[in-house]
Amino acid sequence: MRDAGRIAAEALLRVGEAVKPGVTTAELDRVAKEYIIHCGAAPTFLNYNGFPGNICVSVNEEVIHGIPSKKRVLRDGDLVSVDLGATYKGYVGDTAASFAAGKLSEAVQRLSDTTKAALDAAIAVAVPGARVGDIGAAVQSLCEARGYSLVREYSGHGVGKALHEDPSVSNMGTAGRGVKLRAGMTIAIEPMVNAGRAAVRVLPDGWTVVTKDAACSAHFEHTVAIMPEGAVILTRAEGD
Ligand code: MG
Repeated sequence: MRDAGRIAAEALLRVGEAVKPGVTTAELDRVAKEYIIHCGAAPTFLNYNGFPGNICVSVNEEVIHGIPSKKRVLRDGDLVSVDLGATYKGYVGDTAASFAAGKLSEAVQRLSDTTKAALDAAIAVAVPGARVGDIGAAVQSLCEARGYSLVREYSGHGVGKALHEDPSVSNMGTAGRGVKLRAGMTIAIEPMVNAGRAAVRVLPDGWTVVTKDAACSAHFEHTVAIMPEGAVILTRAEGD
């Protein structure tokens, strides 16, 4: 899990460095694919339930599951959410981050910063004996206090030999409720935070999830291991 997580994290780092105005989302897909394969791993998302890309790239009002495309050219001020997985020796690392193409508006930067902070807050409470509701409550309270809304239809999840395992790890919740976290569990925590309202819909491509009100959305994700001393981030790049 550590090896898979590190490969995923390093791939995400490289994709983040490639995010710039004028670059296509297909180019980001190529960067991730080449790195993951170079490491002897496989891009987990390719063909997952028929997904046609190696990674998901979701721009601005796109929340998750955006399909990389040669036709989608990034523009200055775009918020580019990249989600990817690497499968190595049978184990999966799953991670995501929102990157700036050029300079973000202050409002979008604040949304992105808040989403990252929500992930950090959630990881901090993911200790043995805590419950998945503690994670949801940590994300929800921080984001709602800043006037944002949380996507309800998609959640974090257990991750290990498969990309999606039990338990479901919602970004909304009540502290003290839900499945108890135990040392040795590996889970993906992934707040999806909307600047506007919570409602989302799926585009006719069958994949891309967008906000109904077309307001911007941000996404950060880490695969973590619940250890006796607390959560350890597995999707961390070398030296990060
Ligand atoms: Mg995930």
